[in-house]
Amino acid sequence: MSTEAKEKIDEMISKYTKAANIFMEIEPILTQIVVKRAKILDIAEKIEDEIIKRGGKPAFPVNIAIGDTAAHYTPNLEEKTVIPEDKIVKVDIGVHVDGYICDAARSFYFGGDDEKKRMIEVAKNAVDKAISMLKAGVDLAEIGGAIEDLVKEAGFKVIRNLHGHKLEKWVVHGDKEFPVVAGAERTIAEENEVYAIEVFVTNGDGEVRTTDDIRIYSLISLEKLPRRIPLHVKVARQVFRWIQKERRTLPFSLRWVAKVFGIGSAKLALASLTRLGLLLVYPVLKETKEGSDIAQWEETVLVTKNGAKVLSRKIEG
Ligand code: MN
Ligand code: MN
Repeated sequence: MSTEAKEKIDEMISKYTKAANIFMEIEPILTQIVVKRAKILDIAEKIEDEIIKRGGKPAFPVNIAIGDTAAHYTPNLEEKTVIPEDKIVKVDIGVHVDGYICDAARSFYFGGDDEKKRMIEVAKNAVDKAISMLKAGVDLAEIGGAIEDLVKEAGFKVIRNLHGHKLEKWVVHGDKEFPVVAGAERTIAEENEVYAIEVFVTNGDGEVRTTDDIRIYSLISLEKLPRRIPLHVKVARQVFRWIQKERRTLPFSLRWVAKVFGIGSAKLALASLTRLGLLLVYPVLKETKEGSDIAQWEETVLVTKNGAKVLSRKIEG
């Protein structure tokens, strides 16, 4: 490898590590703030503040998904939801440093139902199993099969239409999927790739559906942006500029836009930008079985010749 290429990889790894270290510094704070009856709005804002305090930026709005809600739920500004006792709470955090992203999630449960405690354990074990199998040259499809087997043997289901993903600079969902069930297309892991390995374990159907509740958006890829954009509404132009400057192609929330422009303008601008096809939307995802529960675990890992280095946890996989 040329010196230049080597330096580029060193810089990349050092920035991924920096982002992951910020996550690891925040993780102990979670046990203090994710507590029964705490407002999820306060939790999300505290985590996002702690990321910025440490020199990172949120790679996406903090997701706090409760019970049969799996993903893409971030509190709105007027949110009153509090942490319940009888449901599993998933906290999914993204940190980026100059576009290099750490994506990691933890689950919490405060009730007395042993099945739910076990679901969290199983999600973590499934991620650990994947980490133990991962190294350069391995087919990710095989790891997906092992994840599914482990979760099935524990008596639960994997949510089969949610999976891990390669991380790329400024892109949360890169060009490779990290499967969680058997039968995925052959995908070979390569040295120095970074993946978010995540598993959702459910006592429901094992599938999520989209809802019409949208709280998270991102700009479409920069190559797809038209050269001339007919933005006649002033606030839509302002919000569009804010997105390009503050977020590039990374996701952002209605809450963040509302804080800068006010809720009315934020809604108007995001609706018109969506209508023009300039934004991707991330609807809240729910288990198809209402009232089911879901545990999630996620780590960010670096693929090496001999294995996988877990960046978001202080152990070697
Ligand atoms: Mn995540
Ligand atoms: Mn992820």
